[in-house]
Amino acid sequence: MTAASLNVKPAYLKIANVWKAFGDFHALKDISLDIREGEFVCFLGPSGCGKTTLLRAVAGLDLQTRGSIHQGGKDVSALPPSQRDYGIVFQSYALFPNLTIAKNIAFGLENTKRPRAEIDSRVTELLKLVGLADQGNKYPAQLSGGQQQRIALARAIAISPGLLLLDEPLSALDAKVRTHLRHEIKELQRKLGVTTIMVTHDQEEALSMADRIVVMNHGVIEQIGTPTEIYRHPATLFVADFIGEANKFEAKAANGAAVGFGAASFSCTQHGFDDGAPVIAAIRPEDVIPHAINSLANGAATNTIDVTISEMEFLGSFWRTRLHGHALGNETLIADFSINAARRLSLTEGVQLTVELPAERLLIYPR
Ligand code: ATP
Repeated sequence: MTAASLNVKPAYLKIANVWKAFGDFHALKDISLDIREGEFVCFLGPSGCGKTTLLRAVAGLDLQTRGSIHQGGKDVSALPPSQRDYGIVFQSYALFPNLTIAKNIAFGLENTKRPRAEIDSRVTELLKLVGLADQGNKYPAQLSGGQQQRIALARAIAISPGLLLLDEPLSALDAKVRTHLRHEIKELQRKLGVTTIMVTHDQEEALSMADRIVVMNHGVIEQIGTPTEIYRHPATLFVADFIGEANKFEAKAANGAAVGFGAASFSCTQHGFDDGAPVIAAIRPEDVIPHAINSLANGAATNTIDVTISEMEFLGSFWRTRLHGHALGNETLIADFSINAARRLSLTEGVQLTVELPAERLLIYPR
């Protein structure tokens, strides 16, 4: 079947079997990835996982050791940056300090030998687009970090590149500005429809901005998926742990569809583990459901255990609790309860309750 018959856009950027070695060290190990036209993709992972190295290979700033990169159907694997079609924004803004804002934005356009009037009107348009219409005559040092990053963005999109590369563009900014710019960049990207790759180690940033997230670790891709897929169905324990939070228990599979840990046994919806196979069972704190102790009629819920609240911490929009109980052995279960649930059940330290670990929310991984 062809891509057209499946009604799926063909890949705009095709990264195939890319390796990158620094001496004996392999920073990228056989990375393959297709990015569709107009997509916003985030490379997400811990420090040193290879995300910047992959972005630099796409940009031609560092060539891959092996493998190929195609952009818009053209093999760009060996092309220098100047012959590739992208705009790039770095964490450090990298504006020219001795040029005005307008001249900074015009920089790439000047090289295209367009008429002066056309360049000027494009710069005016871009200044308006990034919300800095009246700042063109200032110098970078006269602007805030957030404003400088908007100028860097305007400069990167000035020549309407096929690809926009963003290397941790928000990480030098303070929290408020960062959240604000997140929305602005996302909106701008949608408006322009430009295929975009952003490198980040900030999971919240990736979850809120990306159409798809590429989770990397030690030079390999752990998972590629939409934010909800990645969060709800993490393919590996690493992903479950790196994105969001997860309680983890050493467990044993039983009858292919249940696991036991502590003194309890739980059914789960992930099948196919051999009886007795050592597994890790994980559950996110917000997936634990609280019930008043002894309030459940027999059979009203499965996967329930009785616990006591050892600690309760107020985190503004929810309560974080640490739970202990006979069924958990020596393990602690961390559970997040809404303000409403805590009030309804009069939860406080020392209170006993029944918690439910819904079968479909238990994540099971081989140990
Ligand atoms: P960070 O978020 O810290 O930037 P990253 O995921 O972007 O991390 P990379 O910068 O891609 O990581 O680096 C991946 C690995 O390759 C790291 O172990 C790094 O030390 C190594 N590395 C990167 N550049 C070089 C280089 N020029 N020479 C030697 N090793 C390098």
